[in-house]
Amino acid sequence: MPLEFLRRKPSKSAAAAVPEPAPPPIPEEAVAEEHQLRLTFGAKTSNGVRMQGGPHILAALPSMLDNVAKTAVEVIEPRETTLASASPSIVRTAEALEWLRAHGESSPITRHALYVLESLDAIDPAYDTFACALLDGTVDTSGYPEYASIVGGVAAHWDEATGDLIVRAVVGWGGRGARGDTDRIASRLLGQLLNNILESGESLGLTAHDRPGGTPGGATVTCQHCGYPLVHPRAVYCPKCGMRMLHA
Ligand SMILES: [Zn+2]
Repeated sequence: MPLEFLRRKPSKSAAAAVPEPAPPPIPEEAVAEEHQLRLTFGAKTSNGVRMQGGPHILAALPSMLDNVAKTAVEVIEPRETTLASASPSIVRTAEALEWLRAHGESSPITRHALYVLESLDAIDPAYDTFACALLDGTVDTSGYPEYASIVGGVAAHWDEATGDLIVRAVVGWGGRGARGDTDRIASRLLGQLLNNILESGESLGLTAHDRPGGTPGGATVTCQHCGYPLVHPRAVYCPKCGMRMLHA
């Protein structure tokens, strides 16, 4: 007991001998270290090309990327209606989980393409069938396209009035950077893809690109066959499954 008492006492008196340092002056402005990230995404879509209806045309979509695709073509079916709120936004976890359930098994090239094109509203995976590949540039060591690489292919949906398939060329790119010649290369690739669509032997010619569905916020009906909820009230065919609508 006395030993412990002796050990503590000198340290206390030593600490008391040191004068307290003066508080640092309060700065008028915080010295900020700047953090910034700029992402640049771009996309181009062509007019739609009308194709006579028939399931065999969907199977022919990958061949429309002949001589343009630099990698294997992957075909993405329209998303299941149960995944209606899917979104490639990681902070919206419920939407991101649905997106991963729908597309998590796709290749890095396809996921990059869907992310860019869906963010820009250039395609709508709710009803578009999308045949996709790397079209220009390279991928990184994990297989993801570099920012200046161009991805895309053809997207197709069923025309609500006629039941024809509407196919359009779609290209996109982007990420942490931009390059001067990307836009020009993308235009050339879009032209090649549109040519391939027109020369596929099933074309009925160009059509004004009408996005399916009613006016935003307007009335819609649900498809009796696939459950797609955003069909125009007067649509004859479902844009997602191509089946004839049954109106009451
Ligand atoms: Zn349907």
